[in-house]
Amino acid sequence: MSDTGTTIVWFRDDLRVRDNPALHAAVLRGDPIVCLYVLDDESTGIRPLGGASRWWLHGSLTALAAELREIGLPLTLRRGPAEAVVRGLVEQTDASAVFWNRRYGEAERAVDAALKSSLRDDGLTVDSFQGSVLFEPWTVLTGQGGYYKVFTPFWRSVTSGSPPRHPLPAPASGADAEPLHHRRLDSDELDSWGLLPTRPDWAAGLRERWEPGSAGAHSRLRSFLRHGVGDYVDEQDFPAEDATSGLSPHLRFGEISPFEVWHAVEQHRARVPGDAGGASAFLRQLVWREFAYHLLFHLPSITSENMRPEFDRFPWEKPSRPELERWQQGRTGIPLVDAGMRELWETGVMHNRVRMVVASLLVKNLRVDWRVGEAWFWDTLVDADPASNALNWQWVAGSGPDAAPYFRVFNPELQASKFDKHGAYVQRYVPEVGTDAYPEPMVDLAESRRAALDAYATIR
Ligand code: FAD
Repeated sequence: MSDTGTTIVWFRDDLRVRDNPALHAAVLRGDPIVCLYVLDDESTGIRPLGGASRWWLHGSLTALAAELREIGLPLTLRRGPAEAVVRGLVEQTDASAVFWNRRYGEAERAVDAALKSSLRDDGLTVDSFQGSVLFEPWTVLTGQGGYYKVFTPFWRSVTSGSPPRHPLPAPASGADAEPLHHRRLDSDELDSWGLLPTRPDWAAGLRERWEPGSAGAHSRLRSFLRHGVGDYVDEQDFPAEDATSGLSPHLRFGEISPFEVWHAVEQHRARVPGDAGGASAFLRQLVWREFAYHLLFHLPSITSENMRPEFDRFPWEKPSRPELERWQQGRTGIPLVDAGMRELWETGVMHNRVRMVVASLLVKNLRVDWRVGEAWFWDTLVDADPASNALNWQWVAGSGPDAAPYFRVFNPELQASKFDKHGAYVQRYVPEVGTDAYPEPMVDLAESRRAALDAYATIR
């Protein structure tokens, strides 16, 4: 071990030990390591996590601390504006290096860039690494040097170049391994952050469904490769089936890296050629996540502004509070929509097809601004992700670059007859459908569709 100082590894959206390039580099450096997580609700422009994500974060940090403990590293928790907290820790530990894996939101990049330059000015080694996306946004460009605004050429471009790198191993642990040197520091108690709901405790369904942390992520991936990927093409659109991977919150918090997922799927494809179709379709979905992050990087306003400026003139309706609550709480009287909204409340996720249907009802039939729906999803999804959430809402609204055309208004009844033919999904979440206890639809689907198209005609 050298005695040049301490290396701080600042964990953010990469709550894992395996395939963690920042941690890997710190271990290679050989100095004592401080592992840090900062709960930052205060830096300008950084959007505080929603309720469901905070619940997830609590579990994820608990799991990360246990994983780190196994390799002899404590996790230090601090709360506050990240720049001040990291600077404070550098002084406290007399650190000589700070490492992190990159993030792609505008406010987050501003914090990281300011910190990097001031710490470097002070003579520290500061390095950032590629840990959360398969392809860096500045490496995937069109022939003209711009970024892709349409998914299919983006997909073609990333799959025609070199494949993503292989995952890095976890630092060694156990009796035979060299002990990792660390500094033990005062740390916040995780419980003192109040990330878990108490009054009321709405998280019972989340606890039942999820195991935050890398172990839960890898177990989902294994199970999906064994039982799901082969039928992915045929079954991914049927919400009653457990046919998709369920990896989105694990990817959101970086408990598993996209590199690990990519290569596990590739190895599976080589071993089980019959599953090749499902494997390709699944990797394509994984690349939608990349596409969203690239757009977030190149066009940060995607989180809050219409990508198509004509939508700034769209005559949105301002819903009354009770109307909005009918949508939020799954009491619209439209069974597939209500099932989706209740699935979201109970489990912290909603099937992708149903997400499109509930979003379409809100922005088209009810003509409510997509940002209202995006905010509700931000608060209630465990996979709420600044890039994917905004991109998909804009896709459904028609205001995005690679969007569904506005006149494509999902008909929830038709969608239910195609994708939930026997009503199994609706029955699971809305058992009172068909009884007097179930409300009448809050809108006439045909009439509101016509009104939506008329409204759209005013901005074309
Ligand atoms: P799988 O089908 O197993 O797909 C594998 C992975 O690919 C997912 O885990 C996810 O990381 C990625 N992926 C799949 N579909 C998409 C997509 N359309 N866009 C971006 N990435 C995708 N996904 C989020 O991760 N966070 C969000 O906040 C989010 N908000 C959404 C909002 C709306 C209105 C809609 C229509 C979709 C949204 N999605 C979001 C995309 C998608 O619904 C989820 O990623 C998917 O349902 C997660 O389930 P899964 O992990 O089983 O997916």
